[in-house]
Amino acid sequence: MAVRLAAVCNRVSEAASRVGRDPSGVEILPVTKGHPAPLIREAAALGLGCIGENRVSEAEAKFGALEGKLDVEWCLIGRLQRNKARRAVRLFDSIESVDSMRLAQTLSRIALEETTEACPVLVQVNASGEATKAGFGPAEAVDAVLEICELPGLRVDGLMTMAPFGSDEHELRGVFVSTRGILEECGRQDPRFKGGTLSMGMSNDFEIAVEEGSTRVRLGSVLVGPRPAGRA
Ligand SMILES: *Cc1c(COP(=O)(O)O)cnc(C)c1O
Repeated sequence: MAVRLAAVCNRVSEAASRVGRDPSGVEILPVTKGHPAPLIREAAALGLGCIGENRVSEAEAKFGALEGKLDVEWCLIGRLQRNKARRAVRLFDSIESVDSMRLAQTLSRIALEETTEACPVLVQVNASGEATKAGFGPAEAVDAVLEICELPGLRVDGLMTMAPFGSDEHELRGVFVSTRGILEECGRQDPRFKGGTLSMGMSNDFEIAVEEGSTRVRLGSVLVGPRPAGRA
């Protein structure tokens, strides 16, 4: 992973410098789903301060195997069913995949019961409007973000998006540009809105995402190695 991390950091730096950005404004989130728990230890040892998991049960099993979270922030990046929201709030330090108003309301209520500090979340945007993708579509996203900001117990740090699989570069760029536009519009419509995180970019598109303003790239295969067969 150390070798892969060095290569990834280089690629992030080069993408950032192509557009005059400071590469330190891009955080690397290693995605450890589908890999055994000790990989999280390896990421922590390399100084990576956070990890992304996409399933509550898998993360719970790893938490048990590692006897704790290590010195790492655990971030939920996958679709969350409302009946697992309490377990997610207990285990994860932040939730990137708030993809519906009902989920946001459930998380708000549970966070108030479970924690004293607001639960950091990102609102998931379905910028391409693809029917099968989770998240708020471009037409509704700004209103949804501002409405979620009013829910107690949550702190909206920004947006997350996933580009449709198999898109060409032009489409990918469009998804990232549109997501950044939604974040900027939130700030214009409500000056109190302070969320600056744009979680966009995965192994096969992170350089384009960095060029278009990503502040957090979620990297699985390119950083931690190919997932064992059978995992999306
Ligand atoms: C698996 C996953 C990633 C990382 O995927 P790679 O293509 O392996 O980098 C990023 N984000 C989400 C939401 C994921 O589920």
